[in-house]
Amino acid sequence: MPYAYDDQNIFAKILRGDIPSTPVYESAHTIAFPDISPQKKHHLLVIPKGPYRCYDHFVQAASDAEQLDFFRAVGAVAKQLGVSEVHGGNGYRLITNSGPDSLQEVPHFHVHLLGGEPCGPLTAG
Ligand code: AMP
Repeated sequence: MPYAYDDQNIFAKILRGDIPSTPVYESAHTIAFPDISPQKKHHLLVIPKGPYRCYDHFVQAASDAEQLDFFRAVGAVAKQLGVSEVHGGNGYRLITNSGPDSLQEVPHFHVHLLGGEPCGPLTAG
C-alpha cells in the first residue's frame, strides 16, 4: 500500500509559510529549524521540502537529488552547529521516528539532530 501524505501537518504548514519558523539552514530540497520543545542544548529538525511521511516513504519515493541533498544537509547542519567531531565538536545524535510504534507525532519525514551535551541512553524503554 503506498504512503499517503496529509498536507495539513505542521511541517507542511511551515514549508508553505502558513506558520512561522526560523530556518537555520536551507538548500534546494531541505530546510532545518529549531525544535519548538528542545530536548538537548542543540535540537534541530531537518526536513525535506517534498511531501514524504516518514523515512521509508522518503527513501522509496524521493528522487536521488532530494535524498543526496537531504543527507548532505544533515552533515552541513552538524558542521554549522559545531557538534561534529571533525569540526571540533563532541558528537551528536540523529533520531527519526517512523509510524505508530515510534510515536511519530508529525507525519512529515524529519530527522532530529541533538547535541551540545551528552545525549544519554538510546531509548527510554
Ligand atoms: P516526532 O515525534 O518525531 O514526530 O517529533 C515531532 C517534533 O516536532 C517534536 O519534537 C515537537 O516538539 C516538534 N514540533 C512540533 N511543532 C513544532 C513547530 N511548530 N516548530 C518546531 N518544532 C515543532
